[in-house]
Amino acid sequence: MEHWLTMRANLSPGSTAIELDNGDTYTFLQLKQKAERFALQLSNVHQQGHLAILSDNTADMIIAFWACTYLKVPTVFLNTRLTLTEWQQQCDDADVQLLLCADGYIVGAEHLQQSVYSFSHIHTLTPTDKALASMIDMDSVCSMMFTSGTTGRAKAVMQSFQNHWSSAVASALNLGLMPTDKWLICLPLFHISGLSTLFKSVIYGMPVYLMERFEEDKVHHAIMEKQVTIISVVAVTCERLLQRLGEANYPTSFRCMLLGGGPAPKSLLEKAKQRHVPIVQSYGMTETSSQIITLNAADALRKLGSAGKPLFTSSLQIIKDNREALSNEVGEIVVKGPMVTNGYYQRVEANQKAFRDGWLYTGDLGYLDEEGFLFVVDRRSDLIISGGENIYPAEIEDVLLSCDGVLEAGVTGMKDEKWGQVPVAFVVCDSEQITSEHILAYCQERLAAFKVPKRLMFCSQLPRNATGKLQRYKLKEC
Ligand code: ATP
Ligand code: MG
Repeated sequence: MEHWLTMRANLSPGSTAIELDNGDTYTFLQLKQKAERFALQLSNVHQQGHLAILSDNTADMIIAFWACTYLKVPTVFLNTRLTLTEWQQQCDDADVQLLLCADGYIVGAEHLQQSVYSFSHIHTLTPTDKALASMIDMDSVCSMMFTSGTTGRAKAVMQSFQNHWSSAVASALNLGLMPTDKWLICLPLFHISGLSTLFKSVIYGMPVYLMERFEEDKVHHAIMEKQVTIISVVAVTCERLLQRLGEANYPTSFRCMLLGGGPAPKSLLEKAKQRHVPIVQSYGMTETSSQIITLNAADALRKLGSAGKPLFTSSLQIIKDNREALSNEVGEIVVKGPMVTNGYYQRVEANQKAFRDGWLYTGDLGYLDEEGFLFVVDRRSDLIISGGENIYPAEIEDVLLSCDGVLEAGVTGMKDEKWGQVPVAFVVCDSEQITSEHILAYCQERLAAFKVPKRLMFCSQLPRNATGKLQRYKLKEC
C-alpha cells in the first residue's frame, strides 16, 4: 500500500490534520512535508535498529513518529511518567538504539545508555538525500508499546501497520464517519488509545484536536466551543468531565465519548445517562491496538455496563475449562482479529501463555448475555476464591465507591485458614469521620455475606501505575 500520509496529503492537502489548543494548525500536506524533512534530518544520526520516542502530546511528537515510518523504523513509545530505571529497562527490553525526546526530557534521558537526542537538536541537522519509503509493508512492525504493567512487568507489544489499519477501519464501521468529525486527544499518545487516533486521522482525513495533557477546563471548553465531535476518555477523566458539565448539556454535534482502558463504575454510567452524555463503552488493550469490543450508541442505555460486541472483522469467545462457556457463565475473554498483535517482543513465555490457535487469551474474565453482549467481570489474576466461591474484587469496589465519602477503593484476597482466601478492602475517604462500621454495614446491605470485606483499611492513597490504574497485587503491601 502507498504510504498513508503521502496518500492523504495528495487527497486532501489543505484539510486540517492537527489542531492545537493554542490555535496552531497543521494541514495534511504540511504534516507530510515536516515528517519527510524530519526523517531526512534524523537519518544523519540513525542508521539502524529500533528508535524510542519520549514526549508529551505535541505536534513535534507526531511529526517524529511519521518520520520514523518514512525511514521504516519501528517506534517504541515510552511513558513519560516512568522513572529513569524503568525507561532504561524498557529501552533494553525493546532493543532501542536511539531515543528521541521532547526538549523538556533531555536532562533526565541523557543518563540512558542509548544515544539520546532532543527534537530541537534533530531540527538543526542538514537533511540527507536518503530515499524515503513510498510504500507501507503492512506486515512489518510499526510501533512497539508497553502494556500498562498493571499485573506485573510491562511487556512490549508489537503492533503492525495491518493491526493499526484494521483497528481504524473497524472503528469507523461501528461509529461511522462524518465529514465534520474532529477527535480530541487528551490521553497520552504513548498509550494505544491516543496513538490509534493518529492513524484514524490520516486514514479518515479527519482533524485531531491535540492536548498536551488532560485538563478538565480546557477539554470542556473544546467540546463546548471547538466543534469537537468525539473524545476518548478513561473512567477518571470521564468522571471529572461530568462534574465539570454540571447541569449543562454538550452541543448536539458532540456525538461520542469513547470510554475504555479499564472498568467503568456503574454510578458513572448512570450519571452519564442522566446527563444525556453520548457514552460509548469499549473494551480493548494494547494487544488489540485499541478497542476490539464496543457498545453501539443504540444499545448504550439498554445494555448499561456492557462493553458491547466485537467490532467487524474480530471475534470473541468466553472460554471456561477449555470449552466455550454458556450464556451468562463467566470465563476467560478470548479474542481474535486483524487488529490483534502477533505477539510480545522477545517474551517467549508470555507469548506461549497468551496466544493459542490464533486466539489471544486476554487474562480478563467476563461473560456473554443471551444476546451476545460482553460484560467484563475482572482480571483473572485478581480473582478471589473463598470457600469455593468466586469473588470478583471489582464488584466489591463498585459497591464501596457508591458509598458516600469513599473516594477510592481497592479489594484483594488475603490468606485465611478457614476459607482459603477472604476479601479485604482498602479505601481512601474524604473525611476522617467516616467509620469502618458504617462502610461495612453499607456493604452488608448490598453484598452476599461471603463478599463483604473481612477487614477494611483506611489509606491516604492506593498503589497505581503511571496511568493511574489500580495495581491490586501491590495492595497487600499497603
Ligand atoms: P498489564 O498487561 O501490563 O498488566 P494492562 O493490562 O493494564 O497492563 P493495558 O493494555 O493498558 O494494560 O490495559 C488493558 C486492560 O484494561 C484489559 O486487559 C482489561 O483488564 C482492562 N480493560 C480495558 N477495557 C475494559 C473495560 N471496558 N472493562 C474492564 N476492564 C477493561
Ligand atoms: Mg494486559
